[in-house]
Amino acid sequence: MNALHRFCRAVRLLAASGAIFALAACQQEVEDYDVIVIGGGLMGSSTAWQLARAGQDVLLLEKQASEYTEGSSLGEARIARSLGGEGDIWSYMHNRTVAEVEELIAFLNSHEPGHSMDDIYTTSPVSYVRHRTHVFRIESIQQNQVDRYEYARTPQEADELFDLAMPPDTIMWREYKEHSGTINPQALIAYLHKALVLLQGNVQYRNRVDELARDGSAYSLLVTNTETGASRRLRAGKVVSAAGPYTGSLLENVAPYFDSLINPQRVFLAFFEIDPEIYHSWAEADKQRFSDLYPAINSTDPTPEGSFFTMLEGETSQGSPIIKIGGHFQRSDISDLDSVWREELTEAEIQWSRESTSRHLSLLDLEIGEEDLNYVQGYSCVYSLTANEFPYVTPVRNDLGEPDPNLVVIAGLSGVGAKGALAYGLIASDLMLGEDEPDPMYQKAKAAFGYDRLMSDLSQ
Ligand SMILES: Cc1cc2nc3c(=O)[nH]c(=O)nc-3n(C[C@H](O)[C@H](O)[C@H](O)COP(=O)(O)OP(=O)(O)OC[C@H]3O[C@@H](n4cnc5c(N)ncnc54)[C@H](O)[C@@H]3O)c2cc1C
Repeated sequence: MNALHRFCRAVRLLAASGAIFALAACQQEVEDYDVIVIGGGLMGSSTAWQLARAGQDVLLLEKQASEYTEGSSLGEARIARSLGGEGDIWSYMHNRTVAEVEELIAFLNSHEPGHSMDDIYTTSPVSYVRHRTHVFRIESIQQNQVDRYEYARTPQEADELFDLAMPPDTIMWREYKEHSGTINPQALIAYLHKALVLLQGNVQYRNRVDELARDGSAYSLLVTNTETGASRRLRAGKVVSAAGPYTGSLLENVAPYFDSLINPQRVFLAFFEIDPEIYHSWAEADKQRFSDLYPAINSTDPTPEGSFFTMLEGETSQGSPIIKIGGHFQRSDISDLDSVWREELTEAEIQWSRESTSRHLSLLDLEIGEEDLNYVQGYSCVYSLTANEFPYVTPVRNDLGEPDPNLVVIAGLSGVGAKGALAYGLIASDLMLGEDEPDPMYQKAKAAFGYDRLMSDLSQ
């Protein structure tokens, strides 16, 4: 950042805070940054922080106000799990993210004590409840398993190990590991933005990128303030696109092929409380068994559409925990991406969620019927899907048909991104800065999400 730019930035800040003057020279100046990151969800925030740590002058642009009301990262709980066996990239992405969050917390505490891993993670056993037809897959994963788990193949074993009433056509295993349980996306985003600002980076909310184009060896962005409607031009040597489901439209001038590679689909989340009178009548041991039953991935219905993920997210004013539930394969097409976030759940979706929640709770054998589950709320959300449901973390292809490390895309995170958030950002930042790590798992993840895979997908 040169001296004029620093001076102009100060003038703009003064102008934004109400001062009535602005130098003409500064009004005409196109703001110049080392790196602009587009999208302040988990992926953009994580990449912006990693780049700022590496000494880059980073501007993060987010079209929403600072209190997010949409985006795939909306919410306070996502399942964070490690179980997966040696060589499993999702397990690696989770464990690497835990290590990166530890560094983030240490960094924040070095400036202002009081931040904790518990602000981001809830440690709770993660339960995998599956139909017996999955037994071979589960047992093959176990052969290379490094994390601690317990496995029940029969109702008797489930009773002894977990004190649960498991049906005979079901198997269940449970993972126990510190920081496996849930991760809080909104808290993590807030901490990443705080750290970014401490590193002299800049976060601008309500700033939507309406156009991204090549400008010689750099990139030019047309940015609109969604509050005032005012537009301005920015320029950056490097750009990260982390726009979630908006990736296709954002990249239409520079990498139009992403529009066909990323397929946004509507999914939904429903929230229930157990009737407070019933919940408060439970013995403490039953409350504990109940909370140990979350988070969970329940595939006791052998069809993909019947499987669901469920976790606890907050509690009602009457002290009942709120159960959140959604189906990874409960997907539908989107007619308007801007309004899908406000689409109400249908009666059928609420009923599917209620029945599934009731089926999961029946493992407790506590006489809770569907009628004891009060629907609290629900909202629509979006998965950004790719053909094989693996994300992309890749440079784009330039006009010469070569990788362009000055424009890195993180996209297609569907329902897997949160637990690995800081590892995706690390890989994106490394790609941009030409950094690398020899660790075979890092290399495996990088290859699974990277440029060669992109080229292979484009040739299909
Ligand atoms: C219902 C649901 C359940 C999930 N469950 C799990 C789980 O249990 N475990 C797990 O690990 N993962 C889970 N995930 C996945 C995880 O939440 C996502 O992978 C992750 O949040 C994606 O983050 P993102 O930054 O790519 O996208 P987003 O959060 O959508 O971020 C993109 C951001 O870019 C902004 N933006 C878009 N266009 C522009 C523009 N032109 N200018 C400026 N800003 C722009 C948007 O406002 C948004 O904030 C789940 C996802 C969903 C939807």
